[in-house]
Amino acid sequence: MQRQHFNEEQASFRDAYRQFLRREVTPHREAWRAAGMVPRELFRKMGELGYLLIWADETYGGLGVEDFRFQQVMLEEDALYGEAGFYHTLHSRLVAPYIKHFGNAEQQARILPKCVSGECILAIAMTEPDAGSDLAGMKTRAVDQGDHWLLNGAKTYISNGILSDLVLVAAKTSAENPRQIGLFLVERGMEGFERGRTLAKMGLKAQDTAELFFRDVRVPKANVLGDPSKGFHYLMRGLAEERLIGAVGYLANAWGSFEVTREFVKQRKVFGKPLSEMQNTRFKLASMLTELEVAQVYVDQCVNRHNAGELTAEAAAMAKLFTSEVEGRVVDECVQLHGGAGYMDEYEVSWRYTNARISRVYAGSSEIMREIIARSILGR
Ligand SMILES: Cc1cc2nc3c(=O)[nH]c(=O)nc-3n(C[C@H](O)[C@H](O)[C@H](O)COP(=O)(O)OP(=O)(O)OC[C@H]3O[C@@H](n4cnc5c(N)ncnc54)[C@H](O)[C@@H]3O)c2cc1C
Repeated sequence: MQRQHFNEEQASFRDAYRQFLRREVTPHREAWRAAGMVPRELFRKMGELGYLLIWADETYGGLGVEDFRFQQVMLEEDALYGEAGFYHTLHSRLVAPYIKHFGNAEQQARILPKCVSGECILAIAMTEPDAGSDLAGMKTRAVDQGDHWLLNGAKTYISNGILSDLVLVAAKTSAENPRQIGLFLVERGMEGFERGRTLAKMGLKAQDTAELFFRDVRVPKANVLGDPSKGFHYLMRGLAEERLIGAVGYLANAWGSFEVTREFVKQRKVFGKPLSEMQNTRFKLASMLTELEVAQVYVDQCVNRHNAGELTAEAAAMAKLFTSEVEGRVVDECVQLHGGAGYMDEYEVSWRYTNARISRVYAGSSEIMREIIARSILGR
């Protein structure tokens, strides 16, 4: 179905961004997956062309683009021609906005220009070995020492964990209230801040997911984000957009799998005829396309609502839940239609499948999404 969602400006932005990806990213995907990381210079290249923090004010070197459709274009192109393990969206859209919304003028002026240029890479550290979905269970503590805060604890599964220069760390700031947390800006090189190994994973092979350790790290007061008792509130504020970002990317990965499979079944011959002529194949493709088209309409609608400042937590949760489950079903069927080839990394669908498995778990699992939606139905 022809999408009415984008205008000329976004179409030419898409062309330019696609060219960038095809030149700077697509040819290197395999090497980066083998290395378990993308090169730092990639962030600088993105920054030079204005692709990081596109929303940032021009005073910080940004483009000041508020229309989320431009970010949607980038997410869709990333899923087709980019590398899922290159987490520039986490840097630009999931972490930097905290500095915009809750940082003071000094922090914004000090940090944002370097994030726009790609000189300073960002990460966010909430999850701990014993606290993921239930963040109130975190053990990392920050204690006010008068002129600084003393940070102790450990985080795990942190994206950009090795590459990051600045990590937004969530830590408890009260011994009595488990829901009282603060957000602390921990910089590369601060004494007592150490990184563990890059964790080996099923998919997202080029993403440096790591453990982080904080042993008596002295965080200056200038690196506390906003009110150190309001971290939970701050984290909740960004969740609708975070889930929408997920939804756009998951659906685009499913489209990518569908497109390569559409071509594959035309080429592959079984029992003397193309796989595409088997009724099973035709029905499977028809079911997949139906799910993809219907999901796309909902996602585009959520993007429009978000642009209007009206995207609710439950609508974003539905988008995340549905698209991640559609993605799971579609990539699984696509592997099946590829036969053994679908299990081989030289076929795109193989890594699309392993990358997709995490979509139903991180950024709020499917179960947590159902909880949020149920609460909106039942009132609690
Ligand atoms: C590749 C990758 C990158 C990541 N990047 C980051 C990052 O950059 N920063 C960061 O802080 N974290 C990151 N994470 C962590 C991620 O956000 C957590 O894994 C996720 O929140 C789930 O937490 P958990 O792993 O502790 O699972 P758990 O919370 O222990 O969940 C286990 C199971 O219990 C279910 N469950 C939990 N609560 C409920 C409930 N109330 N009702 C029903 N079922 C429930 C879950 O849905 C899940 O099926 C990343 C994880 C991965 C794998």
